[in-house]
Amino acid sequence: MSIFDLFKRRRRDAIRKHPFPEAWREILDRDVAYVAKLTAEDRTELEGLVQVFLAEKNMEGCGGLELTDEIRVTIAAQACLLLLHRETDVYPELETVLVYPHAYRAAGTKHAGPVVIESEDARLGESWTRGVVVLAWDHVSSTARHLGGDNVVLHELAHQLDAEDGSMDGAPDLGSRARFASWARVLGEEFEELSTRVHAGRGSDIDAYGATSPPEFFAVITEMFFEKPKQLRKRHPELYAELAAFYKQDPAER
Ligand SMILES: [Zn+2]
Repeated sequence: MSIFDLFKRRRRDAIRKHPFPEAWREILDRDVAYVAKLTAEDRTELEGLVQVFLAEKNMEGCGGLELTDEIRVTIAAQACLLLLHRETDVYPELETVLVYPHAYRAAGTKHAGPVVIESEDARLGESWTRGVVVLAWDHVSSTARHLGGDNVVLHELAHQLDAEDGSMDGAPDLGSRARFASWARVLGEEFEELSTRVHAGRGSDIDAYGATSPPEFFAVITEMFFEKPKQLRKRHPELYAELAAFYKQDPAER
């Protein structure tokens, strides 16, 4: 461990020692549906991660939006769900979260080098590999409150995890070559299957937006893994198993 890691760990331990504000707890209960599924132990871990996330990341209200604790905590809690149980840093590449009041629409979706710009109707966020996530609060708020399969924060932060290993390619840092081989086979097959169905005009239980590219596929199935885990496990057991191994969580059992 480097001296910087040591400092970072000490600083984070100090941050987590502060009591988690009761008002924040109420926000979690009211605004973030997934939290109700967590064990007491997981919830404590999540609260600590939320404290670290909010202390370390710069969150800015844009387009006239005044940031409130409700906005900050709702976003941080969902971001940190993806970190639970994992020995990982707290989005080391992510510096800034920009929050707009409403969904906005730009022209189309494109992956241009390291930059991803998303603007499809249903995907009202943007994720850059270089440390910025853009979110629309109305969309964050509505997708956080119920487990409907869409979750813009989980989606954008999955892109951040994907990019942490240096390339946004649909595979986050899996830790070993063997794990990567299995991931590439299972996700590759499922991505092909989804693409084939979508291009043939057939429906799928996986959001068709996932057929856009492997990074979008990973982001979309991350949403489904947390929001519709039983359905994912039943119909795509291998895919579910890959995500369960990566996220070290088993939401279908919660
Ligand atoms: Zn995306």
